[in-house]
Amino acid sequence: MKRTKIVDIFSPELVGEQVCVKGWVRTRRGNKHVQFVALNDGSTINNLQIVIDLEKFSEEELKPITTGSSLHVEGTLVASQGKGQTVEVQAESIEIYGTADPDEYPLQKKGHTLEFLREKAHLRMRTNTFGAVFRIRHHLAFAIHKFFNDKGFFSMHTPLITASDCEGAGDMFQVTTLNLGDLPKTEDGRTDYSKDFFGKTTSLTVSGQLEGELGATSLGAIYTFGPTFRAENSNTPRHLAEFWMIEPEVAFYDITDNMDLAEEFIKYCVQYALDHCKDDIEFLNKMYDNTLIDRLHGVLKEDFVRLTYTEGIKILEQSGRKFEFPVKWGVDLQSEHERYLVEEHFKRPVILTDYPREIKAFYMKQNDDGKTVRAMDVLFPQIGEIIGGSEREENLGKLQSEIERRGIPDKDMWWYLDTRRFGTVPHSGFGLGFERLILFVTGMSNIRDVIPFPRTPNNAEF
Ligand code: ATP
Ligand code: MN
Repeated sequence: MKRTKIVDIFSPELVGEQVCVKGWVRTRRGNKHVQFVALNDGSTINNLQIVIDLEKFSEEELKPITTGSSLHVEGTLVASQGKGQTVEVQAESIEIYGTADPDEYPLQKKGHTLEFLREKAHLRMRTNTFGAVFRIRHHLAFAIHKFFNDKGFFSMHTPLITASDCEGAGDMFQVTTLNLGDLPKTEDGRTDYSKDFFGKTTSLTVSGQLEGELGATSLGAIYTFGPTFRAENSNTPRHLAEFWMIEPEVAFYDITDNMDLAEEFIKYCVQYALDHCKDDIEFLNKMYDNTLIDRLHGVLKEDFVRLTYTEGIKILEQSGRKFEFPVKWGVDLQSEHERYLVEEHFKRPVILTDYPREIKAFYMKQNDDGKTVRAMDVLFPQIGEIIGGSEREENLGKLQSEIERRGIPDKDMWWYLDTRRFGTVPHSGFGLGFERLILFVTGMSNIRDVIPFPRTPNNAEF
């Protein structure tokens, strides 16, 4: 008999029909006459109730059916008498695929902490919470492709292994096939990277942007959606060593077009999640944070505030607030500053623009004041920075002198500079941290809980 997924079974048309369902046991309870099994197959947060009549099955047969065991059940779908579900299955045959010894199965009990479940990352997707989070993650990924595809952007796959170490976003993981215990040396005693796989030093990428700009200045509008790697030793609830980033890059866009795109994009993703992940979001709202749904609607309702970094600094200075990191013009904003502006001052998302040149990357378009660049960061409640972007410097001479001023080896940059050498155009783009978006939409508070297998300092077990 053909299997029906549990997500499809809660439909009135199927009542009275014979069905076949498969899944994992969440709980089992009951008495001497009847037993109730809550079955989940991952297709939805909702469990299907299996009713087992003890006149048809022996205690002995049912004994291995414990939390975590896996079943194949056939029976009749009937309208449910009990509270909490509309339909249930009256079991006629049960096949046990696999048992889960209650003394050993880590998820035997309910109510584990998120920290405990992080240690069990190989199994935590079987819980309601992580089932919900990872279904939402899927729908958001799909929404992102749909958003850009519908707008005529082309998806572009940029390389994960890169030879440029000048992307300016923290420390990189080196990629090598050299034997670290026995490195080849040059005559002056340094490591001879000409013997390495690519004939030079290479690393995992921190961003697909530079290659994305090549795409944008050819195809017009592109986006990347792939993993990025940063060896920053920052153990925060918002940083991973391996995370996914979405980076649109668009020819002929100025910073205002870029801000409009970012705002429309995030609102689209939030709306998509509300439309497609209702049960999962309601579950998370109930279990973890009952302001979540309001916060999601709040973001949709209002225009994001747009102001300059300089104005933002003034607000922070006049706030009378004692910050852990003191503020003055020129400092890089910390999450506490960003969240003050968003959560306390404006009470809605903020796009901060025109940051000091010295704290931003070399490729950002310089403003006429000589001090600031056309950067734009989108700041969100609970998260802080969710997007970082800018209009790019399209003037070859200015870009070259900035590269020189920063001491970036320009032998690595010739291909990038060719975008400005041949048919240069104004263009802009940004990077959205995918896990930060998922943090926002799920209301989870630690980034380790929104990626299946987090990579952080000292943690690459699973
Ligand atoms: P932050 O200041 O929060 O460390 P950043 O300014 O270094 O971030 P960008 O280089 O602007 O980050 O990267 C673009 C986006 O990627 C950020 O806005 C953020 O959403 C996300 N991001 C950056 N670093 C990480 C990380 N280590 N883990 C997860 N997401 C990240
Ligand atoms: Mn940034």
